[in-house]
Amino acid sequence: MQNAAIAALKLNWRYLAFEVHPDNLRAAIEGAKTMRFVGLNLTVPHKLMALDMVDMVDARAKLWGAINTIVFETHDAEGAWIPLAKAKDDAIKEVRSHGFNTDADALVQSLKEDFKWPDLRGAHVLLLGAGGAARSAALRLAEEEVGTIFLVNRTEERARQLADNIAACYPRLIIRHGYPADPVDLAVNATSLGLKPNDPLPIDLEWLKSRRPARVYDMIYRPKETALLRAAKAAGCQVANGLGMLLYQGAESLKLWSGAAPPMQIMRDALEKHLHD
Ligand code: NDP
Repeated sequence: MQNAAIAALKLNWRYLAFEVHPDNLRAAIEGAKTMRFVGLNLTVPHKLMALDMVDMVDARAKLWGAINTIVFETHDAEGAWIPLAKAKDDAIKEVRSHGFNTDADALVQSLKEDFKWPDLRGAHVLLLGAGGAARSAALRLAEEEVGTIFLVNRTEERARQLADNIAACYPRLIIRHGYPADPVDLAVNATSLGLKPNDPLPIDLEWLKSRRPARVYDMIYRPKETALLRAAKAAGCQVANGLGMLLYQGAESLKLWSGAAPPMQIMRDALEKHLHD
């Protein structure tokens, strides 16, 4: 997805994957900064711990509690910080790492587009999971002014902590624990259940069949159709997988690094072509 976009934008860049042990994350970020990488993406388990390892954290990333994108920046002639990609090589002196989170907005964009649902205000949402992705999803959905979030997680204590976090930032949002008695507008799987073929369903199947949420979103994008999405489709719910979220978070990262408008169709085509190889 990124390399297809980089080629289309005629940038002399490469997007590469590096496996970094968490113990070495700080050194890896500093190394990339020293080598003048334009930026980085971070994934599990680095998103949370990187908050303390960058020179500057974007206010929204701080709120969501996770970083998935780092932009390396330097000063322009007027002293303002700009992405390294925008600076002339011989003008680069001081470099800083600036952390952002593009996951949370990407989820909301994907929900709106995939379900043709432009306004989430007042929606009742069942959120499965209480890890990093669930946390940023809950806070970002609160920003959309959804009405109620029902939290379900294997470790109840973690769900309670998440509820406290949300309540501290969005006191008007109603947060409940456990499955709602009534149908909801949206159920989101933010657990990792569904990544492996023999995983149990992340949702109570009887609840799914009897309450039939209007929409079911699975953040998982590989496999394309998880057991949850199959069951939800059979129950008559609208369904979408996490491909849109993956696409939009990547596109926003590219925009932050380059300042250019990401070629969305090229990125989507590359994802659809290669993701399920
Ligand atoms: P975390 O490890 O932070 O959280 C994992 C969550 O899954 C926790 O709520 C955990 O519950 C739950 N879980 C894990 N194993 C089990 C199990 N055996 N039974 C019940 N619950 C379980 O991961 P993330 O929050 O970072 O990611 C969650 C999912 O979202 C992943 O599938 C990831 O691939 C996807 N994702 C997709 C993105 C996209 O672009 N589409 C972006 C980011 C994430 P507990 O608290 O009890 O451990």
